[in-house]
Parts: sequence; structure tokens; C-alpha cells
Amino acid sequence: MKSIRFLYPEGRVKALTMSYDDGVFDDIRLIEIFNRYQIKATFHLNAGVMGQGKRIPESEICKVYDGHEISCHSYFHPFMERIPRAAMLNEILDCRKKLEALSGQMVRGMSYPMGTFNGEVKNVLRNTGIVYSRTTLSTERFGFPDDWLEWHPTCHHNSNILAKAEVFKNVQQNFSLFYVWGHSYEFENNNNWEMIEEFCAAMSGYENIWYATNIEIYDYVVALRRLEFSADCSLVFNPSAMDIWLSVDGAPVKVAGGAFCHLQ
Ligand SMILES: [Zn+2]
Repeated sequence: MKSIRFLYPEGRVKALTMSYDDGVFDDIRLIEIFNRYQIKATFHLNAGVMGQGKRIPESEICKVYDGHEISCHSYFHPFMERIPRAAMLNEILDCRKKLEALSGQMVRGMSYPMGTFNGEVKNVLRNTGIVYSRTTLSTERFGFPDDWLEWHPTCHHNSNILAKAEVFKNVQQNFSLFYVWGHSYEFENNNNWEMIEEFCAAMSGYENIWYATNIEIYDYVVALRRLEFSADCSLVFNPSAMDIWLSVDGAPVKVAGGAFCHLQ
């Protein structure tokens, strides 16, 4: 029997994704840093309060978030589990519709406002086309959720990410994911922009790391989990439209979308 392991696109073995909430002006400075180091992020926005206070106005959303993922954070930022079910539906659907209209892109991701949710909120999400939702509970690990509607990140950016960056770069397990979340205004409030810059510098430029948005990670992992293998794993079928990469006895193999592949 061959040794088969999951890989990221182009045979990469690790992935980094960033996740920032509330859509404030400080996102602009954060995105400049991410872009300088070619790091990809997801920004979770509240469609009903754009342009209020420090929040970026509707007219600038497209330009500011170009190259990164725009995702829901609810319409008005309520505690989702403390409002009527019909209001939950409107919070998500109205947020999706407006973000999609503004961005011209499909919006399928979310992070929970204040990080709170319950089973009923999750049921509503399933009925509104939201495929993943990030919590604020740190796993302190580099793995994946069983339930994408409870996608717990590795940690908040204040949780010693410079030390974790070194740990992550040294982990031997294939298919690790480092998932960092926060708010860009925290760098302004805490006067520690240099910390995220240092983190991005430390993490960037590695050929074996995939720098991806939250939804890119989700879509790839879901497609990967749809692979069908023969019992001895010598034959694999990829029913998705996306190319998937495996390590077979240590060598990277591409399983093209829609194709069967013999793992020799
Ligand atoms: Zn928030």
C-alpha cells in the first residue's frame, strides 16, 4: 500500500489565512501590509452600518478589498442568538445581498458578530447559503473544523503569533493551517502595527506555504474531501471541477478536476 497524504494546490504542504472583522478604515493599512508580503485575508463586513464612525463607506468597499475575500459579519452586528429567527434570516441575507451587489462577487463566508452563536443561528446560516462561519475560540492548533459553521481559528493576533510563526514553519505534518483573526483597529489602539508587519515578514515568501483567503481554503478542503478512492487507494476520482494535490509515497501528484487518476 502506498502512503497517501493531502496537499494544498501546487503541492504545497501548509497554508496561512487571515480573518479580520468590522470593515474599518484601519483595514486599509493592514491590507497594504498583507499585499506587500503577498498574504491573503478575508474581511468580514457589516453591510448595514457602512460609512458610520470608522467604518469604510459602501463606495470604497470594492477598491479597498480588491484581491482579498469579502465576507458577511451580519447586517447590524447583533448577538445573533438573541434576536428573532426572522431577524437572523434578514441579518444574513440582507448582508449577503448588499455585499454581493457592492463587490460583484459571490459572498458565502461569515464570522459571528461578538463570536456568539447557537444551534438555531447555525440552522439559519445553512438556509442562507453561508458555508462557513468563524468563531473567536482559539484552538492553538493548525488543523481543520469538523463543522465549518464553527470554524475555530488558531488564535487571535495578540496571542504570541511571532512565536507561533516559528512553530508553524517547523511543524512536520503535511496539510497544516495557520488561521489568525482580529480587528485592524486593535493595531491602531495598541500601537503595535510593527507586530503584524513582523509576522507577515516572517511568514511570507515560502514556496511550501499556500497564502489563501478563508473561502479558498474552504473550497479546496471541501473538494479534497469529495475525492473517491478505491479500497487499496491505487485509484482516485475527483468529482469536483478543482485540481487537487496529493502526496503519494512522498511525491506530489495532481488529481485533475473531473478525472480519474492512477496513483502509481
Ligand atoms: Zn465584529
